[in-house]
Amino acid sequence: MVKVNGNYGKLPGSYLFAEIAKRTAEYTKANPDKKLIKLGIGDVTQPLCPAVIEAMHKAVDDMSDKKTFMGYGPYEGYAFLREAIVKHDYAPFGAPITADEIFISDGAKSDCGNIGDIFDIDNVVAVCDPVYPVYVDANAMSGRAGEWDGRRWTNIVYLPCNEANGFIPELPVRTPDIIYLCFPNNPTGAVATRGQLKLWVDYALRHDSVILYDAAYREYITELDVPRSIYEIEGATECAIEFCSFSKTAGFTGTRCGYTTIPRELKRCGESLNEMWLRRQSTKFNGTAYVVQRGAEAVYSEQGIAQTRETINFYMNNAKVIRQGLKDAGLTVYGGVNAPYIWAKTPNGVPSWNFFDKLLHEANVVTTPGSGFGAEGEGFIRLTGFGDAATTEEAIERIRKVLQMRSLD
Ligand SMILES: *Cc1c(COP(=O)(O)O)cnc(C)c1O
Repeated sequence: MVKVNGNYGKLPGSYLFAEIAKRTAEYTKANPDKKLIKLGIGDVTQPLCPAVIEAMHKAVDDMSDKKTFMGYGPYEGYAFLREAIVKHDYAPFGAPITADEIFISDGAKSDCGNIGDIFDIDNVVAVCDPVYPVYVDANAMSGRAGEWDGRRWTNIVYLPCNEANGFIPELPVRTPDIIYLCFPNNPTGAVATRGQLKLWVDYALRHDSVILYDAAYREYITELDVPRSIYEIEGATECAIEFCSFSKTAGFTGTRCGYTTIPRELKRCGESLNEMWLRRQSTKFNGTAYVVQRGAEAVYSEQGIAQTRETINFYMNNAKVIRQGLKDAGLTVYGGVNAPYIWAKTPNGVPSWNFFDKLLHEANVVTTPGSGFGAEGEGFIRLTGFGDAATTEEAIERIRKVLQMRSLD
């Protein structure tokens, strides 16, 4: 008789987005005339840029001719894309990464989850709290998280990220073997400085741990001297794997392309993690579509760079409107400067879900309750710059009005 993976039964369920959808649907049903504005959205909304579209059309034509048709590609992705990544994402920042250390994939989410395949089940995993839920759930599914106690996983090391530490995790008491870090951060919008990352790199080197660094939002960094890659930090090539994605950079959420970098120098127990990952990918993955990789390559063309920059600036302008508008309304806000996410503190310590309901009912604006990302997210909500400019301004104006009337409650 077959037995299923019992770890799935321990998962608490994707409570957050299901609950948001439920409350939103209930409100809409009771108030069909009200026009809701969604600022909780974690997906891009602007189309692919012309340079990418043109490259993909051309690649489709390649597929139509026997002379240029492409079948299975290399497991690690085409050299044209891996070389463009080195040239534009690593070399200019002094990150010593070569094309043979890059693996093209269908996105960062799969890689963040699948990377667990090359690590023993007994490793202790650390995550930030609040956190992008994929890291936790993927480890729980493979049995690395222990038991769900109704609030937390018993075998996960949670690294609190809060106002007191500026949303940058401090070194933990219990030593983890695998450390997930994500900067610019989803959901808090925080970025780590070189010095703060160096502390973690040194820690990982000291303990033979491995850092799994999610840099999906690297292109949203606007401030000078904020590191875009962990490999800008000395020693990181010996202790870190980095995940990047074209999803938020170039609107590839529905097109699917990302890459994972594993330096040759990164070895544990005498094994090269780069070689182990190639073995894993060549067994369980047959590559990202040729047409999509040509589209991703075009992100690095002169026009591609200019056009994707324009879209990112558009989202970041929305973020600025949200950040400034909520500040003017008297809220304490974080993020929105080097990330499309604004992490806003609820007024008077109101719980996240209560404030979510208030904004839904009174401002008709949908946000994301911070508590859904972890215990430390309680008392915050997340808003994003991924909406349209006019509706974002209207949403913030509505929230401002609701908060002004607060004293009458
Ligand atoms: C959106 C996002 C990604 C990107 O995932 P893809 O699978 O590449 O679309 C990765 N990490 C974080 C934290 C994200 O928010």
